[in-house]
Amino acid sequence: MDVLRELFENAWKYVTMASLVDIADIVIVAFLLYQLFRLLQNSSAMGILRGVILLLVIVGLSQLLRLQVLSFILQSTFQVGLLAIVILFQPELRRILEQVGATNIPGFFVRQANSNVESSIMQTVEACRSLAWAHEGSLIVYERLVSLSDIIKTGTIVDSAVTSELIKNIFFPKAPLHDGAIIIREGRISAAGCVLPLTGNPNLSKDLGMRHRAGIGMSEKSDAVVIIISEENGSVSVATDGMLKRHLAPETLEKILRASLLPPEDDDNTGSLKRFFKKFFGGKKADDRR
Ligand code: ATP
Ligand code: MG
Repeated sequence: MDVLRELFENAWKYVTMASLVDIADIVIVAFLLYQLFRLLQNSSAMGILRGVILLLVIVGLSQLLRLQVLSFILQSTFQVGLLAIVILFQPELRRILEQVGATNIPGFFVRQANSNVESSIMQTVEACRSLAWAHEGSLIVYERLVSLSDIIKTGTIVDSAVTSELIKNIFFPKAPLHDGAIIIREGRISAAGCVLPLTGNPNLSKDLGMRHRAGIGMSEKSDAVVIIISEENGSVSVATDGMLKRHLAPETLEKILRASLLPPEDDDNTGSLKRFFKKFFGGKKADDRR
């Protein structure tokens, strides 16, 4: 009990002593941690991060309760463990750094309203309705903050306005560019016939083939929104953050695209930063993009 009281008294002392700079410091650290969790979400590194946090809590507790031997062993393990994590998770860490480097910084703070995007959503939904009806396999990727330039390079540059006719034409089974994915950047079709990275998730349903795995992989490696239409059964799915929503009606597809790609309706210039503050300090449902 004494330990707990001491803990609370110390915590209270720090709260009363906190200056504006300290508060800014805490907010910045919380923001960076939130972004780190977002990047790690659904990746295998998330399990490791949970393990590290648990270990940190146990180290803290063992020091607090003055368990000398346990605390010594855990601290030594921790130092070696950190090095092991960097070596073992080099590909994951590399991916995270790549994503941070490829992020569009102004867009991160302010999600720009773009009339092209609004019309591209309408046209895409219209195209998906017919493609699904005709069972024509399709893969449509909406780029967001993480740049997909490397993926665009794997395909053929199109650089055209998004029209439902063009999308249907591209995915027509005998058309030269029907294999692979189209990438939509800022409301325009940038490229077609692009090769996407496959997911390595072993827990996916066995009935999901390469098209779905490529769509899910793309959404794990970036913040893109990926629409997948099945050639086998005509169902429409959307992948974001490594998760797949299947069997979507056109109305639901439109809702998801609008929520992910357009600024929230109550404010034309809301970016990640504002959503972050809403999430942490109350207000209406914060991260409506996910
Ligand atoms: P469907 O329900 O349409 O059959 P599926 O998930 O079962 O989809 P497959 O039948 O394996 O997938 O689909 C193969 C098609 O998926 C290929 O012809 C190609 O167009 C596309 N595809 C496969 N791998 C990739 C990739 N890495 N990047 C982009 N497109 C891909
Ligand atoms: Mg198949």
